[in-house]
Formats: sequence, structure tokens, C-alpha cells
Amino acid sequence: MADDKQESSLADNLARVRERIARAAERAGRRPDQICLVAVTKTVPAARIREAVAAGVTDVGENYVQEAAAKRAEIGAAVTWHFIGHLQRNKAGQAARLFDIIHTVDSVRLAEALSRRAQQLGRRLEVLVQVNTSGETTKAGVPPEEAGALVAQAASLDGLAVRGLMTIGRLQPDPEEARPEFRLLAALAEKLRRETGLDLPWLSMGMSHDFEVAIEEGANLVRVGTAIFGPRRG
Ligand SMILES: *Cc1c(COP(=O)(O)O)cnc(C)c1O
Repeated sequence: MADDKQESSLADNLARVRERIARAAERAGRRPDQICLVAVTKTVPAARIREAVAAGVTDVGENYVQEAAAKRAEIGAAVTWHFIGHLQRNKAGQAARLFDIIHTVDSVRLAEALSRRAQQLGRRLEVLVQVNTSGETTKAGVPPEEAGALVAQAASLDGLAVRGLMTIGRLQPDPEEARPEFRLLAALAEKLRRETGLDLPWLSMGMSHDFEVAIEEGANLVRVGTAIFGPRRG
């Protein structure tokens, strides 16, 4: 019964998330349609993703290359595929083939591997530079003071288009705890736009528990899983 209820409420969950996005955008003086919702589908089976697509989802986020390969074979290019997990260099080839945008570039060597693979595929791959804004040692991403160098180096590589920055907020029950990190990322992007002349239109920040705070601080790519699909099992 509980499962049935969860299944049938996907469209409701999605509508609620969209409503919350709209209200947060309005609080921040921005239009709701300027915010792109990435539905995070790790552990979510392809049939559920299809259901989400039928309910209006246009962008999906996956954390694991292997898992995404199987689902992409079923779902195809009807949606934009975002890679949001930690990417190992030996998976760069597969990632460049499967995904439209990689949120988690955190080293020059990874950027170079993606550049090489994208060129082999004859495509221009969009990437974001992941920044560790909390300073937690368990977190991936470059320290804020190194982001500029990585953005500039990645932007110089053929086959890549650097499109912005990404961060994961501090995972605390109170989303306000992550606000300074979101604010830092937004300020950093603004500074890098000035210094590099690059567009850097995307700020990927905010998950189920903190996307409203992230939007208030300037996020326009939010990565939401649990609030749409329910708790992940296993
Ligand atoms: C899993 C994940 C998300 C989604 O998390 P929820 O709390 O389920 O919304 C967002 N971003 C990243 C990087 C993730 O790994």
C-alpha cells in the first residue's frame, strides 16, 4: 500500500517541488522559468524515470556511469543527461558519450581526459567546475581559490565548454547552514565572469533539503532526487 501511494504521487511530488522552486525564485526576484530542475535518478529504475518524463521532467541527473548507460539505452535522448557523481578518469570516454553536461570536473587531468574523448566523438561537451565551498575534507571539488585556474585551463581545451560552477552544500538538517556556501559559489562565479570574460551561466547548487536556500542565493540548476522520487532504498 505504502509503495502504491508513493508510485502514484510522483506527479504530485513534482508539482510540489516546482511550486517551491517558483516561490523561492520569486523571493529572490527571479523568474521560475530561469531555474532548471534536474531530477536526480540514481537508484530509480527506468520505468519510473519514464513516468517522471511523462509528468514533465526534461533533465535527469545520474551519479554512476554504468547505471546511467543502462537507463540511457532505455530512455534515449528525450531528456538532457547530467552527470553529478564523482567521475574517474578511466570513465571519461563513456561519460563523454552518455552525458550532455558534467557537473563535477575537479581536476585538470579529468578535464583533459574529457576533452580528448569529446574530440574523438566530435562533440563539444558542457562541463561545470565543482568547488568545495564548505572546506569539509570528505567533499570533492577544488578549493574556491583554485577554481579560477581550473576554469581557465578547462576553457582552453578543445571539445569542452565550461558553463559554470557546482557545489554540494553542507549536509545539515537546517538548510540555512549551507547558505554561506551557496553565497560563496555565486560570488565566485561573478568574480570569474569578470576576470575571464566567460559566460558561466550555470550555478548548480541545491538538493532536496536545501534547494530553496540555494535558489535564494542564485542557483539556476537544482538537483532534486528524494523530494520527487521518495527515499532511496538499498
Ligand atoms: C544524490 C544527489 C543529489 C540529490 O539528492 P536528494 O537529497 O535526493 O535530492 C543531488 N546532488 C548530488 C551531487 C547527489 O549525489
